[in-house]
Amino acid sequence: MIDGFYDKYMYTPMPEMHNEMIPVTVGCSYGKCLYCDLNVGKKFKVFDISDIKEYIRTRRKFYENKRFTPKKFTLLEGNALCLKADFLEQILSEIKLNFPDMKYVSTFARSDDILRKTDEELLRLKNLGLDRICVGIESGSDWVLQYHQKGVTSRQQYDALKKLEKAGIQYSVYIMLGLGGEDHSEEHILKTAEFLNKVHPFEVVVVNLVLFKNAKLVENVRLKEFKRISIRRQLEEEILLLENLKIRTIYNGTHKTKSVAITSITPDKKSQLIEVLKESLQNSEKMLNKKERKKWTRWDAE
Ligand code: SF4
Repeated sequence: MIDGFYDKYMYTPMPEMHNEMIPVTVGCSYGKCLYCDLNVGKKFKVFDISDIKEYIRTRRKFYENKRFTPKKFTLLEGNALCLKADFLEQILSEIKLNFPDMKYVSTFARSDDILRKTDEELLRLKNLGLDRICVGIESGSDWVLQYHQKGVTSRQQYDALKKLEKAGIQYSVYIMLGLGGEDHSEEHILKTAEFLNKVHPFEVVVVNLVLFKNAKLVENVRLKEFKRISIRRQLEEEILLLENLKIRTIYNGTHKTKSVAITSITPDKKSQLIEVLKESLQNSEKMLNKKERKKWTRWDAE
């Protein structure tokens, strides 16, 4: 059965964190990105369709006679869109059947999951309620994507988002500061801004690179092959990103990996966001590092 598979961490798209979560998979079908720890300690698994349907029915019973009934749903976990369209269609239909007021169903997706779906399949999924897909873009730089073994090129990521737009599916994206390391910091940020300016995410979630214990990147850092950027440089990267970002979107930089939490609409509030970051840059190295150390003590990371 489904319960008990998500122990320490459960990965959900930040813009959808208050949705009703539907367990569909555990981990990620790809699982090769150097910085990611999603598959460490847990193996990718797809639940049986009968168990997923049963779970949805159980949730309907749970909400019977409650004042609140969920209308927004998320399919767990790392990239549930990797599943075949007819499998997903069955899940979406079951949600609609049990929660007729359902507004939409979201999920994390990789760009190649999207590219593997035909336009017709995406349209069918959209018509059954799939919307607000969250795509881990991370960077617009091909060097960065290749180094971290993301498994897709910047062009493929662009094509995937355009495919979603064609199907009328809204999307949010994740961007990760620090992924270029010291040597490719500027390239990472400028290429990422360039990429974002060509697409239309309703929300851009900006996170910092965290070196999770057991992530494959740890070894590269130990060997000094990959040089992590400082907290100060992370702030500078974020300023550079904002300065070069032109699209209208929700800029969400409140993720717990960030040293300074900022969020607002760009481009309207861009200068205010930059101002907050510049103020933080006034802090001494000692103060910036102290804040960061506090975070590490609460996290299973190095
Ligand atoms: S695609 Fe996402 S969830 Fe899968 S390994 Fe890469 S970063 Fe982790």
